[in-house]
Amino acid sequence: MRHVAVIGSGPAGYYSAEALQGAFGGDIRIDVIDRLPVPYGLIRFGVAPDHQSIKAVSRRYEKVALSDNVRFAGNVSVGTDIKVDELLNLYDAVILATGAPQDRPLDIPGSDLPGVIGSAAFVGWYNGHPDFATLDPPLDGTDAVVIGNGNVALDVARILAKTEDEFAGSDIVGHALEALKSSAIRNIYILGRRGPHQIAMTPKELGELGHLANAAPRVDPADLPPEDADAALEPGLRKSVAHLRNFAAAGGAPDKAKTIDFDFFAAPVAIEGDGHAQRIIVERTHVDETGRAAGTGETYAVPASLIISCIGYRTPAIPGIPYDEALGRFANEGGLIADRLYCVGWARRGPTGTIGTNRPDGYDVAEKIVAALGPGDSGRQGRAGLDALLATRGVDLVTFRDWQKIEAAEAVRAREGAPREKFTRIGEMLDAARGN
Ligand code: NAP
Repeated sequence: MRHVAVIGSGPAGYYSAEALQGAFGGDIRIDVIDRLPVPYGLIRFGVAPDHQSIKAVSRRYEKVALSDNVRFAGNVSVGTDIKVDELLNLYDAVILATGAPQDRPLDIPGSDLPGVIGSAAFVGWYNGHPDFATLDPPLDGTDAVVIGNGNVALDVARILAKTEDEFAGSDIVGHALEALKSSAIRNIYILGRRGPHQIAMTPKELGELGHLANAAPRVDPADLPPEDADAALEPGLRKSVAHLRNFAAAGGAPDKAKTIDFDFFAAPVAIEGDGHAQRIIVERTHVDETGRAAGTGETYAVPASLIISCIGYRTPAIPGIPYDEALGRFANEGGLIADRLYCVGWARRGPTGTIGTNRPDGYDVAEKIVAALGPGDSGRQGRAGLDALLATRGVDLVTFRDWQKIEAAEAVRAREGAPREKFTRIGEMLDAARGN
């Protein structure tokens, strides 16, 4: 019997477990460990609450989680409750599937002012992540700036722009829905440091901005390159740029109360305000011959009391584990960090790609583990050893069956038409798991 510990229960973690099951047949026991009492990582806390069809992939992970040779071990914090070295003693292999939940820092003067928030925190707030449930972002001003031209920036701008009715059927948490209902925000500026041809926004997600009930996107036609230059773009990007051209042609919608302005060639250089963010200073750029944003020296101010930086993420380092500071992920060779220690997903590749990109990653690492270990028995204790150690440390491990009780309780307390009302405090989750 082989024993593998997967740390992190998001897409990368469950695809790895699924792949290991296939690779080893019945000859394996897998523990999927998560620091939270609830599974699915990015699916629960990252994917936008109004994108429920994307969240449906969790059914596939549930199937894996419910199989006999896989166990969810929630509410177990690696680093605090148990060290990676200890896991390596107990298991034949350890896979770090810890994602990239930390914001890449916005390294400009004033970025520490109240009102400046990273997307991890803002997304975590509206998705009910226990770390960010009390964020209380300032929504009392009329102007908000979203920094970045990726899909996270789109999610954030859309959530700020939607009406209450447009959240029907979503699982946005109650505290966020209440706050957004009385939001004063009318002008949302999306800052891109490069131009329309350099956006990282996918067409389906960008197109959604054109169909909002009370908000309209605006693009300055002068920012768009000549139309014939679109032909050289990769097809997905070409479709995204076509949306921008449509937004520019429409010229906004005067009957809608909110606008989402795309401000291209705009690099943030400083945030200013009296005790809290009031404006962001932006430098006009052009895209140089290497494709990078080059400053022109011309600056201007955009008013904003809420500034959300959506400029990418980092994997938190774990003391003692080789880490690539520049890339913000574990140092690894094709998923291998050190003997019997692997990484998958964003912890391996950095924060890019769709949820499905994690599948080949998981399968690749499973193949490598099979090749390195083969079938057999090393005598390592696996699950039994973990349980014994955690018992001596008073850790209240949450199993998948426990999670199903949390899930059922969240469904019972859901708003009408919503799939669930998430618990946002770990204590509440544990109470529901114990049937209290
Ligand atoms: P991303 O796609 O890498 O976009 C990051 C954006 O931030 C880029 O436009 C980048 O500009 C900009 N940026 C980086 N540093 C900056 C700085 N210092 N100042 C100004 N701008 C800066 O990252 P993401 O939006 O966080 O998304 C992460 C991944 O999740 C992506 O693969 C994304 O597609 C995926 N995702 C998918 C969905 C969906 O499918 N619905 C939803 C959310 C996220 P440059 O290009 O100039 O570097």
